[in-house]
Order: sequence, then structure tokens, then C-alpha cells
Amino acid sequence: MKRILTGDRPTSGSFHLGNYVGSLKNRVNLQDEYETYILVADLHALTTHFNKTETIRENIKGLMLGYLSIGLDPQKVTFVLQSGIPEVTELAYYLGTITQRSVLERQPALKEKLDQGAQDTFALYSYPVLMAADILLPKANLVPVGKDQKAHVEFARDIAIKFNNLFGETFPIPEPLIGEVSTLLGTDGQSKMGKSLGNAIFLTDFTEEVEKKVMSMYTDPNRVHPTDPGNVEGNPVFIYLDAFAEDKNKEPISDFKKRYETGQVGDVEVKKYLIQVLNNFLDPIRTKRAEFESHPELVMRILKEGTQKARIEAQKTLSEVKKAMKLDYF
Ligand code: ATP
Ligand code: MG
Repeated sequence: MKRILTGDRPTSGSFHLGNYVGSLKNRVNLQDEYETYILVADLHALTTHFNKTETIRENIKGLMLGYLSIGLDPQKVTFVLQSGIPEVTELAYYLGTITQRSVLERQPALKEKLDQGAQDTFALYSYPVLMAADILLPKANLVPVGKDQKAHVEFARDIAIKFNNLFGETFPIPEPLIGEVSTLLGTDGQSKMGKSLGNAIFLTDFTEEVEKKVMSMYTDPNRVHPTDPGNVEGNPVFIYLDAFAEDKNKEPISDFKKRYETGQVGDVEVKKYLIQVLNNFLDPIRTKRAEFESHPELVMRILKEGTQKARIEAQKTLSEVKKAMKLDYF
């Protein structure tokens, strides 16, 4: 069975709609077809949250609840805590020995993070090398991520190809799998939805929070009156309708679009429909989360057992790596 590895940084205790369409949805859809490893990337979280380890600890539980509530099945999926697999840092070191410094200097995510105020540390700089080790250690074939992570998966591909050329066929070459909405726009209509950007609707938001966020959402800034012809393109209200309406609720959307473009419907009417669509999507997730919330020890046990299982695989790969590199001295 082919393998998936993907993961999330516990920089927040819940997921947002962007995480869902960018990556989570693909994981749920593919869990029957692929042996799936999901990494709670606490080491990656330290690159920006090294002084917030208490928060990371809390968020780990939140992410686990998030996974289980969207329908990832612990019978099928292996959940892994990154810091529970010390082999990953060892592999990252070996991969680092064949990584050009200039390639790391050019990574777009580094500049972005620094612009957002991150500390200019060695760990932040070497982020892609650790991520390549995350992917290669379980010999993943497919990595479902949002578009913002595509460059990192491509780095992992390059390093796998280079390793295989230098030391013999060891790793499968991983492929990124981008969600059907590759980058979901935030409620501000300005940039990608992000946990830390104040423009996110979270899977844990209550009905009233969703209502409040949608009612104050950015739409078409050039449209003052409901009778003005409006723009559907790039308008987050319509983007979310397309992304989250179930098929049976899609019918009114094309009608709304036509009326919006010809100035025959107000923002409020469309937004009210969006609130309904989002709450329909979120309700079953909320119910499932509440069920798991009453069993916190079960949730952490799932993570512990998954980590133990993944570690056995990790040790196997690492000994192959050392053998290939002729580092198997004893
Ligand atoms: P942070 O702001 O802390 O970086 P984030 O919202 O970007 O958080 P991550 O944990 O970095 O979330 O990413 C988890 C997954 O969600 C990744 O696969 C990423 O590509 C995807 N993702 C994040 N934001 C979006 C978005 N707006 N649209 C689509 N995919 C996204
Ligand atoms: Mg991110």
C-alpha cells in the first residue's frame, strides 16, 4: 500500500476552513487507499513558538480532536508526535550534509516568516531539511498540502533524488497533492486564510461566531448598493459557497451569482445563505468533537500508540540509510 505523510504545526488548537480544503479533506478522502501517517509537528512549531511550549502542549490535544472530528479514523490512520521520533532529527542531519546552503537561503517561506517577526534561528533556516526527513522517514509517496507548502515538498523530492543517486535507491520520490482549493482566501479578502492572521473561520467556531464573521466579511469593495452590478470573481463569499455547499445545496448558488452580477441581490441575503451552508458543514464536525472531548485520555492514547508504531518504521528506514551511507559500523 502506498503511503501518505502530512502534518500540521500545533501553533493553534484548531483548524480553519483553509486547512480543511487545502489538505485535511484530501486526507479524509484518501485514508482508505493509502497507509496514512499524520504528524503533529511540534518540533516545527518550536521554530516560531520556542518560548510557548505550554501552549504547544495544549494545542496538541486540540489538533488531535480536530483530526478525529473531521472523520480521520484512528483504525486506519497513524497519528505521530514529531518529538517522539528522535530518528527524524538524525535523518535531517544526514540530509543536511547533502543540502546546499544557497537553496535554503532562497526558500520563500523563510523570508515570509522573518517578515512576520520570527526569530532568525538555525532551526527556522533548516525547516525544509527537517520537513524532508519527516516525509522520507516513513517513505511517503504522497504529501497532501496547501499550495503554500508545495515548495517544501519539492525540496524533499530533490533531496530524495540526490540521496538515491549518491547512495543507491533508498527513498521513493514523494509527490505533493494540492487541495481542490489550493489557497483559500481569508475573510478579509486580502491574503490566505491563516491561523495567526485574524482572518480565519475555525472548525471549532460556534454558530454565532460564524454568523458574526460572515456578516463582517469582505465582499466587493466597489459595490455600494444592492442594485450595483457586483463581482463574483475573487469574492470570498462566493469562494466559500463554492467550496463548502453540499451538492444538494449548490442549486441556488448559480442563481445568486447571476443576480449578484446584475445587481439584483444584496450582500446580506447571500451572506445569510453562506452562514447556513457553513453551519451545515460544521455541525457534524462539532458533534463529533464534543464526543471525543469527553474522552481526553483516549485521544492522547491514540497519539502515543501511533507514535510507537511509527518509530519502529523510522528505525527501519534509518538503518537502511546508515547502511547505504556506509555508516553501519557495528
Ligand atoms: P500558521 O499561520 O501558524 O502558519 P496555517 O494556517 O498556515 O498556520 P499550517 O499548520 O501552517 O496552518 O498548515 C497546515 C496545512 O494547511 C498545510 O498543508 C497548509 O498548506 C494548509 N493551509 C494553510 N492555510 C491554507 C489556506 N489558506 N488555503 C489552503 N491550504 C492552507
Ligand atoms: Mg502555515
